[in-house]
Amino acid sequence: MSLPWTRRDFVRLAGGVVALGAYARPGLLAAFAADPVSNLDDLARSIRGQLLRGGSPGYDDARRVWNLAYDRRPLAIVRAATLGDVQRCVEYAREHTVPIAVRGGGHSYAGYGVADGALQIDLGTFNTVTVDRDRRVASVGGGTRIGDLLRATLAAGLYTPMGSCGSVGVAGLTLAGGDTNGRGLYGTACDNMIGAQLVTADGEARELGPYGNEDLYWAIRGGGGNFGVVTRLDFRLHPVVPLHTAAFNIGWRDIAGAMRAFGDLVRDAPDEARAGFFLDPESGASASCGYRGDAAAAAAYLEKWQAAFRPAEAQLSTSTPIPEGEVWGPTSMAVDGAFLEDLSGAVVDVLSRAAMVGRGFGQMLLGLSNGVVARIPMTATAYPLRGTGLSTLIAAEWHKPGDRTRAERWVADTGEALRPWAGRAYVNYLPPSTPGRIREIYGVNYPRLVRIKAQYDAANLFRENQNIRPY
Ligand SMILES: Cc1cc2nc3c(=O)[nH]c(=O)nc-3n(C[C@H](O)[C@H](O)[C@H](O)COP(=O)(O)OP(=O)(O)OC[C@H]3O[C@@H](n4cnc5c(N)ncnc54)[C@H](O)[C@@H]3O)c2cc1C
Repeated sequence: MSLPWTRRDFVRLAGGVVALGAYARPGLLAAFAADPVSNLDDLARSIRGQLLRGGSPGYDDARRVWNLAYDRRPLAIVRAATLGDVQRCVEYAREHTVPIAVRGGGHSYAGYGVADGALQIDLGTFNTVTVDRDRRVASVGGGTRIGDLLRATLAAGLYTPMGSCGSVGVAGLTLAGGDTNGRGLYGTACDNMIGAQLVTADGEARELGPYGNEDLYWAIRGGGGNFGVVTRLDFRLHPVVPLHTAAFNIGWRDIAGAMRAFGDLVRDAPDEARAGFFLDPESGASASCGYRGDAAAAAAYLEKWQAAFRPAEAQLSTSTPIPEGEVWGPTSMAVDGAFLEDLSGAVVDVLSRAAMVGRGFGQMLLGLSNGVVARIPMTATAYPLRGTGLSTLIAAEWHKPGDRTRAERWVADTGEALRPWAGRAYVNYLPPSTPGRIREIYGVNYPRLVRIKAQYDAANLFRENQNIRPY
């Protein structure tokens, strides 16, 4: 007597059912999916790269991310070697209803490069950079770090706006928009991404740009990793312009007064300005303003800053971008973000009070976002932080497990207190967030993002991110 169902029948049926999963909510069909664990051998045989699972040498190193607060165990990690490997992984995850975690540079504050039970696609070998000096275009693999991109473009005397830490992944930063140096003159990272290759949930590799897959091209400029795995990004390049900076140490005395002065100065800052207000847990507050361009014009403009912060003495410097940027090694950290339209009296009260409460462990970074990035219309890309504002990161590290609660509470309380003035925030500065918060942040762009998500990833395979739900 033969059994009514063989394992092969079951797997075949599950494949069909999972294809239907494209039209259903995740989880509903999971019970029918093919066995993801026993089929990993098939996946390993079908790829050129390496597959690691619990117990494999290197598995623990490969699952470690920058934010050590996230100690997670994926079902398996594939160090993808080819575009075909990425496509195979996506197909496997879809057929087995396993979520995908994409690891580019591994620097997500929210730990999204790794997830329990997920298939982690590690793009570390996708780090080739090519620069076309004549066309002023750089193309990079989806796992390239900022340092590698800048090293190649600077050698050609060119630059594209990027973040300040060289080990951060270019894709993770750009897909969320980018809190970048140079955005006042050139727009931010996503504004300079002129093309990309994306593997969508159906396993197809699509070319995106102004004249192809325009909806997806619009969505990945701000919508994060929600739409697939980006295997290549193309950037517009610009000439390198020197940055003339005046920096002021303020310390712990009259932080509120210094913040008010900073708020007044940035209100009408020119496109050339790169201004920031910082809180260091040990040394307290500092402020700086750089001016990109001619030394004489910079000196004239920065005089205003020197007058406002007197008697603090200005530390003057001139620099051009360096690939490594500011090096910041792995740590355990809680974060929250806020995009503040200005530093009103009430906001200064919240921040200056929080600064004193968090003395010894709390950090803040308020970076001016103005000029070209601010003038691009809100609906031109998915990135919602248009208009002039201060992109704010609230952060606290801990080095002993006993200090974790204090750090997390201070960050959460400060973020919550800012919420009345910060419906929007940079998604890469958020902790894992609720659907309501994500909807609020994307604002008028949210309905279009949901439509595109529903069209290309209805089963929400790409959900290990600040998630845009397809329903
Ligand atoms: C020390 C430090 C400094 C930072 N400085 C800045 C800064 O100056 N400016 C700024 O804007 N941000 C900054 N960030 C935040 C940074 O932009 C985000 O953490 C970003 O997610 C890092 O990208 P990653 O590829 O390194 O991260 P990963 O952890 O590898 O990826 C995070 C998420 O990004 C998505 N993703 C990454 N690569 C791909 C891909 N190829 N295809 C599809 N999805 C992908 C996925 O959803 C993934 O889960 C900083 C973070 C750290 C830790």
